[in-house]
Amino acid sequence: MAKGILFVLSGPSGVGKGTVCSALREKLPDLVYSVSATTRNPRLGEENGVNYFFKTREQFTAMMEQDQLLEYAEYVGNYYGTPRDFVEQTLANGNDIFLEIEVQGALQVKEKFPEGVFIFLLPPSLDELNNRIRGRGTESQATIDHRMSVAVDEIGLMQHYDYAVVNDHIDCACERIESIMTAEHCKVRI
Ligand code: 5GP
Repeated sequence: MAKGILFVLSGPSGVGKGTVCSALREKLPDLVYSVSATTRNPRLGEENGVNYFFKTREQFTAMMEQDQLLEYAEYVGNYYGTPRDFVEQTLANGNDIFLEIEVQGALQVKEKFPEGVFIFLLPPSLDELNNRIRGRGTESQATIDHRMSVAVDEIGLMQHYDYAVVNDHIDCACERIESIMTAEHCKVRI
């Protein structure tokens, strides 16, 4: 049985990864998504086990120490990590898996899964990104500034990715990602 393909989507905070992923879920209901563990507090409407597995620092550290995470990173004061078993099982069962994670974690995944497909979602411009982070209205000024400076650093690491997709329009960005997935399935792999 062929193994599935691991797809990783990254992009700066506010670029619209969440929205693009929700649209992808609707278009590709069979695509399997990895649910990350995080120490950040749930936002309004977020559910444990659906959006994230919400953990205390102690619980997260225990997962790290027990090697339960494929990758992890500290991002704007909180830890985020990908549960390893679920990813490995999904691929072994012949299904694709989709990870939406930040750049430091994506680079760790690339070391372990160099055959993975790494997609970077870009904003149409930095001004537009700033507007989108502000527009969310859930973050303090200090967090906005921090997220903007992290975003600029993240965009600098785009060279490590296989594909860059501009999120000018959600539907267009989704179509480009779907095309990448189709192309990767047609690729001759030796
Ligand atoms: P948010 O707090 O806005 O949900 O996510 C903040 C950042 O953490 C986003 O860039 C998101 O892609 C990233 N992230 C979410 N889950 C993971 C994960 O499991 N590992 C890593 N490295 N980053 C993650």
